[in-house]
Amino acid sequence: MLRLKISILWLCCIAAVAHANTQLETDLKVLTSPEHAGRGSGSIAINESARYIHTRFSEAGLDAYYQSFRFRQGFGKLGHGHNVVATLPCNVPVCHKALVISAHYDHLGSRGSRYYPGANDNASGVVVMLDIAQRLASRLRHREITFVATDAEEKGLYGAHFFAATLTPSQVALNINLDMLAVSPKNRLYVLASKQASEFTYAIEPAFDSQIRALVYTSATSLARRLDTPRVDWLRASDHYAFHKVGIPFAYFGVGIDPNHHTPKDQFDKVDLPKLNQVSEHISAFISALSVSAAP
Ligand SMILES: [Zn+2]
Repeated sequence: MLRLKISILWLCCIAAVAHANTQLETDLKVLTSPEHAGRGSGSIAINESARYIHTRFSEAGLDAYYQSFRFRQGFGKLGHGHNVVATLPCNVPVCHKALVISAHYDHLGSRGSRYYPGANDNASGVVVMLDIAQRLASRLRHREITFVATDAEEKGLYGAHFFAATLTPSQVALNINLDMLAVSPKNRLYVLASKQASEFTYAIEPAFDSQIRALVYTSATSLARRLDTPRVDWLRASDHYAFHKVGIPFAYFGVGIDPNHHTPKDQFDKVDLPKLNQVSEHISAFISALSVSAAP
């Protein structure tokens, strides 16, 4: 009987874990599949990714739209890029300044018969963003929360610059940029936050736990020293820079370095899904601490 009880308990736990990871796993599998061909900006295949993200926002109950822009694709050649934007409105009487969550969905596309799946960079950030949207959709929110899946980040942060130019910076409290969230066995996530974000960063470390730690830095130089990446300018390395440039405080979440970065080995099966799920829970807890009101 005891054994039976334990078995039932065990099955329940497995079911719970499996359920928690199902959507993240599906989203990651789809975005890294050969049909999406490495999500190269300006390619036909990336349109499939944009449509998928749009559908997933809609399924979570958000109104989503495409924001189209042009970017420099090479010598004298312009490409078309498409951000996918979705918003959860503030739904209580007194609203505070908005949050903008960003994650780029483009990657390096394909070369010859090989494609670059970009599982960590940055399908991981996109699927976590979709998960966060789902988690917050049914809550009481005292801030508007806008989600933007940006295009042409790898080409030079084009999508983020275009999107940031459409915002009124004084109305945005914080940009939270997610880029490469598949944690290594060291179980660490690095956060680079601008000094202007100091009124929000207090809530980061308490939202994490001893299993996965978030280490917060306010200096790109200190982060580079910590990661032993002297040649990487972490301030300009991802979309948060576009928000910083228009005067919006930012907090950028990422794993720092990945040996498979920008190689065809950045694949779905290299991502530890239960850990990615934990990361999503922690970042959701941080965003909830900033934006969710208790039920009346
Ligand atoms: Zn990236």
